[in-house]
Amino acid sequence: DALLDVQNLTVQYPKDGGTVRAVDAVSFALRKGEVLGLVGESGSGKSTIASAVMQLLKPPALVSQGAIYFAGSDLTQLSSEEVRRLRGNRIAWIPQAAMNALNPVMNVREQLAEALRSHQSMSKDEIAERIDEVLAQVGLASRWAAAFPHELSGGMRQRVVIAMALVNKPDLIIADEPTTGLDVMVQVEIIKLLKNLQRTLGLSMVFISHDLPVVLSLADRTLIMNQGKIVDQGNTLALAKTS
Ligand code: ADP
Ligand code: ADP
Repeated sequence: DALLDVQNLTVQYPKDGGTVRAVDAVSFALRKGEVLGLVGESGSGKSTIASAVMQLLKPPALVSQGAIYFAGSDLTQLSSEEVRRLRGNRIAWIPQAAMNALNPVMNVREQLAEALRSHQSMSKDEIAERIDEVLAQVGLASRWAAAFPHELSGGMRQRVVIAMALVNKPDLIIADEPTTGLDVMVQVEIIKLLKNLQRTLGLSMVFISHDLPVVLSLADRTLIMNQGKIVDQGNTLALAKTS
């Protein structure tokens, strides 16, 4: 039973008086608790798929065909209000370079409180408790809650970004290049953290990267993209042996 089921998705951009298919008839499904890798060169369409699933494609991008089922509803058919609610509560997005986009004038606690959608209906103590819980999940000692982004290392900033994605207890996380730009040692730490979150929280994730070894170390199954198409897919270890 699929949590996310993308069927025949095609996304076009205008180009030179015609159109270019950034995503070309792509179909895939993700089961609950699974990490699905999406790997391919820059420009192969990975981020466009992520934006389409998040329903955050910007004009002139156009979904010209396909369906995106999340927990049984087709996201392309929902109202923008329904999509906004799903995006806040059930699907979390870690966009590319999110760690560089943290609000520089907010400390970690404030960023997490703002990311918490239900903060209006929660007491101060409940909010503090949820923030402590999520900081522990990403391996940040609670003393860092008062720190500002410039006081954190790149790896710690990425942990904050992951905490922001987790804070609403989403069913699905879409992580676009979450280890890119980090030192190799730190990449390994972040991969271990994500793997651990999959195990302990049963996290489901679409993990996007141009870096095949990184994807191989994390994903259960992997899709390989080229020029908007899925050109190979399967069990990640089996793919690694044949490539
Ligand atoms: P990836 O994430 O794999 O690097 P993208 O999804 O960003 O790939 O891009 C896929 C294709 O869509 C590329 O050929 C790119 O040039 C094109 N594209 C992306 N954004 C735009 C845009 N705003 N306008 C026109 N073409 C775009
Ligand atoms: P609003 O917050 O005004 O209701 P949206 O929910 O559409 O509007 O989100 C505004 C922006 O916040 C989006 O363009 C996107 O970059 C980011 N965003 C929304 N939902 C999420 C999410 N679940 N995870 C990460 N980023 C998100």
